[in-house]
Amino acid sequence: ESGTGPEAPQVPRYVRVNVLKTRVDDVVEFFKRQGFAFLGTAGSVEDLKSLSGKKFLLDLHLPELLVFPPQTDFHDNRLYTSGHIILQDKASCLPAFLLSPSAGSHVIDACAAPGNKTSHLAAILQNKGCIFAFDVDTKRLATMNTMLTRAGVTSFKLAQQDFLTVDPHDPKYSKVKYILLDPSCSGSGNTGPSTTSSAGGSVWLFHGWTLGHGCCPCRDGGPAAAGGGCPQCRAAAGAVWLPAQDPEPRASLPGGAAPGLLHLLRAPGGERGRGARGAAGAGVGLQVLLPGEEQASRCLFLVVAPCAAAGLSAVSCPLCRLVNAFPSWPCRGLAAFPGAECCLRASPADTLTQGFFVAVLERCGEEAAVPRCRR
Ligand code: SAM
Repeated sequence: ESGTGPEAPQVPRYVRVNVLKTRVDDVVEFFKRQGFAFLGTAGSVEDLKSLSGKKFLLDLHLPELLVFPPQTDFHDNRLYTSGHIILQDKASCLPAFLLSPSAGSHVIDACAAPGNKTSHLAAILQNKGCIFAFDVDTKRLATMNTMLTRAGVTSFKLAQQDFLTVDPHDPKYSKVKYILLDPSCSGSGNTGPSTTSSAGGSVWLFHGWTLGHGCCPCRDGGPAAAGGGCPQCRAAAGAVWLPAQDPEPRASLPGGAAPGLLHLLRAPGGERGRGARGAAGAGVGLQVLLPGEEQASRCLFLVVAPCAAAGLSAVSCPLCRLVNAFPSWPCRGLAAFPGAECCLRASPADTLTQGFFVAVLERCGEEAAVPRCRR
């Protein structure tokens, strides 16, 4: 998720105040007592860029984030060792902030270790509700357990489990309304678009899903079967978007997370959740964060394919839509697919953060309307 070029500015030291243990004002006072001058809330990214010496600011976008000059080292600071502050890059704070589950919600953190975003989610939830956190890596999970304990996080269930083996119909997940998916680094926050499009067109389809995988709407007798178009059988009418380089499409996904997501999107959602930041508000269902244009588009494809075949675009799909997240964030998704500008990018050069990509998907249709995936 990082990747500073030689000419890129140095990224500041970002400090997230852990509101499970303390308050922003108290932390500000603590650092003032340690000889730092507090300059108030930043007015622009330029303000962050010009920070030097023993000065610090409150971030302009994230209310619980303090900003210090690059390389300020707090690893031995007692606020850090006691879990009162978390050393977390600003871009890495975006997903939980954008997902913004209400206190008491049930949330899945699908690729969770070492747990920075889990602890951020717990802070937003005020430790009320439950975070089902999964990871496959034992060592990272052990680190995560220590970190969450230090941060005072109590509202979580940690599992060493491949997220794709999670059964979304298991009653224990019946109240889940939010999913945060932060898979192993794809570098997609920093690379250019990996898809190319044929000229124009409104049909929005991707290939790469075998018939055996069973999500093809024509196999399911969906609208594509009636001649609307299908990526697998290449019978699409109008423009078809295809990944430019994709010898093994599923390997490039976050552990093949898209099919898992589709299952989750089908899971009974109970009451509707409230909207992610930037969402229109009403009619919000399950919300999902995804890590790159390609993954976002693929996941959308799985849900959207029947609608796309019926002539609807990803953004007008009645089942699931991209949220225009955080409209005031300056750096938007690359034009790799229709609606990509709803997504956020972050980079050292543009936002003075590590590189990152966030897409927010919102389920807005009923389960019954989503075709079954035969696997
Ligand atoms: N969200 C974490 C945080 O904020 O600290 C960072 C996650 S890291 C980018 C990606 C994690 O995904 C790795 O720990 C990796 O072990 C895990 N992972 C990869 N594939 C997975 C899968 N199929 N199921 C669960 N975890 C997986």
